[in-house]
Amino acid sequence: MGRIRVLSDVVANKIAAGEVVERPASVVKELLENSLDAGSTRIRVETEAGGRRLIRITDDGCGMLRDDALLAFERHATSKLSDVKDLLSIATLGFRGEALPSIGSVSRLTLETRSQDESTGTRVEIQGGKLQRCDEAALAGGTIITVRDLFFNVPARKKFLRSDQTELAHIASLVTHYALAYPGIGFELTHEGRELIAVTPVAELRERVFQVFGTNVLTDLIDLGDRTREVPADEESEPNHFTLRGFISPPHIQKLNRNSIYLFVNGRLIKDRLLLHALHAGYQNLMPPSAYPFALLFLNCSYEEVDVNVHPSKTEVRFRRGTFVHDFVRDAVRDVLLAGRPVSNAPLGSFTSPPQVGARLPYSEFTQQIDNVPVPHEVSEAARMEALGGPMAGGEAMGESGGLVPDFRLYQPQQPLAQRLDFSTGAPLAVEPHLPASASGKLRRVPDTHGPLPPGLAVDPQMSLDVLRDLQPMGQLHDSFIIAAGRDGLWVIDQHVAHERILFEQVLRQMAAGEVERQQLLIPLVLELTPAQATEFDRIREELEQSGFDAEPYGPRAVAIKAAPAALGTAEVERVVLEILEISEKELRQSSFEELRNEMAATIACRAAIKINMRLDATRMEWMLRTLAECEFPMSCPHGRPIALRYATREILRGFHRI
Ligand code: ADP
Ligand code: MG
Repeated sequence: MGRIRVLSDVVANKIAAGEVVERPASVVKELLENSLDAGSTRIRVETEAGGRRLIRITDDGCGMLRDDALLAFERHATSKLSDVKDLLSIATLGFRGEALPSIGSVSRLTLETRSQDESTGTRVEIQGGKLQRCDEAALAGGTIITVRDLFFNVPARKKFLRSDQTELAHIASLVTHYALAYPGIGFELTHEGRELIAVTPVAELRERVFQVFGTNVLTDLIDLGDRTREVPADEESEPNHFTLRGFISPPHIQKLNRNSIYLFVNGRLIKDRLLLHALHAGYQNLMPPSAYPFALLFLNCSYEEVDVNVHPSKTEVRFRRGTFVHDFVRDAVRDVLLAGRPVSNAPLGSFTSPPQVGARLPYSEFTQQIDNVPVPHEVSEAARMEALGGPMAGGEAMGESGGLVPDFRLYQPQQPLAQRLDFSTGAPLAVEPHLPASASGKLRRVPDTHGPLPPGLAVDPQMSLDVLRDLQPMGQLHDSFIIAAGRDGLWVIDQHVAHERILFEQVLRQMAAGEVERQQLLIPLVLELTPAQATEFDRIREELEQSGFDAEPYGPRAVAIKAAPAALGTAEVERVVLEILEISEKELRQSSFEELRNEMAATIACRAAIKINMRLDATRMEWMLRTLAECEFPMSCPHGRPIALRYATREILRGFHRI
């Protein structure tokens, strides 16, 4: 007998389930998509134990005919495609006919459905892929699918699942996404009877954004309007057009992760690198590359422009004309961002409200000063000559000859200062003077003719922590960096980052000892949360308590904060809590509480630390350096940025040709 055998359907379905059904949220996704494809106007999702014990989706869609109800569990049974040609233009969310059989093979599933065309309905029960029963039943029109004990027969998968709260957060985020994509449809999500999402059908996307996120978010967002771009015909297809609508955040709203980016192509939720990149490119130079905006983008195009059959979970797409799509999205984003501010006005100069994530935004607070950075000499000179109609304005030769051509791209004020001055590399300020020197033989090094080195001087290029202890502060540069003399050279210390490190270690110590100093707020601060945030809040409530917050649920989707760590100003409390919730969302997949605690301490420290652009007197500089020296890791901030740069004595000596 040969060795190759055709797999039984039960096995094949279980394998497919491995791709389609990763976790409870994937079941919700597939079932939601089916309900949407069925033309439902109201969809209700009930869950228990993070979806592993129960997921039930009830819709008022077209339902299934009795014969179809059974057929739906056959592999590759779908009402949505009949022929290969259809694959080229997929208008429905589902099309592979894999979801129901896959889910049925790894759970105990009940389907109850009645088509509007039949007088009675059908109830089908499947367990681990095996049909248990199929009965006629009196049912209302529409479909109810109940999935119990997900992965009961796949212990390996079950083990891989995270806590109920984590799985629930994934589900909540998914339902939120779909609620945003389909404002005309009502959605409801409950967990063990508790309502997490309940949105009624509305006419406008804007209203749905308000229902989901509340006023705060909505007022900040910029409406993209309806944008269209024509694609010219090519040998394969007719001329076509793409449309884009949605909302994006202004550059000063900066997120730590991609969780606030919602991308939809033809109503399908997707994760797509090309679109993410296009979005980022739209924000280029307006936002640091490490930060993320809030974005809700709906791209629509004719179905043959996009291939959705790239991955079993249908979250990836491939565009036929990728570059075109990329540039369209980038330009649309860029246009609205710039439209808000006159071009002559340096965009960065208008970052008046502080960015949300200071620690990750090196020097962005510096941006007010950018206008004052003098334009490099050659440029102003060339520009002046040009204005005067002088020799430099002569035209043709200029462009080619380079050198003095004013390349304003290089000096545009949008370019972050950090990039221009290359501070961000974290390399010690080892400025190697460019000597035309020895090679050309014009200069000779004469180290010993200048007298001996001062006694006790360290010329060791290794940064030594000892030196930190006896640094002598000499003053501040730009009210932002402490300049200090050390035995081994000249030190430049970023005052914000240094203070952040000091506070970070202090908060961590207090957290470990369970004695974070707290202050009562005069009036409790009530925060409205998104469903995903509310779930996160439940999950990390104890940790929040440990880190000095006293917060309680306040209605189903809000929390009241009564006390906060004393280090924080009252004005910072809201932002810090939201940032912490965001961090913990980001850590959903690999959240260890220790990491979370570190991140919390880092967030508090960052918010509480003194900022740059702040004058410090000698005593405070002195205090800062002493306290920093006592830190366990005084050389980098909790996020890994350097705290101090050093211009080593060795380099100084070299610069003066003393060695
Ligand atoms: P696909 O969505 O890829 O077609 P599924 O396995 O998800 O495959 O579903 C199989 C078929 O069952 C669908 O094509 C559709 O005809 C039917 N179906 C599934 N869910 C529903 C629902 N909620 N309402 C009506 N029909 C449904
Ligand atoms: Mg489907």
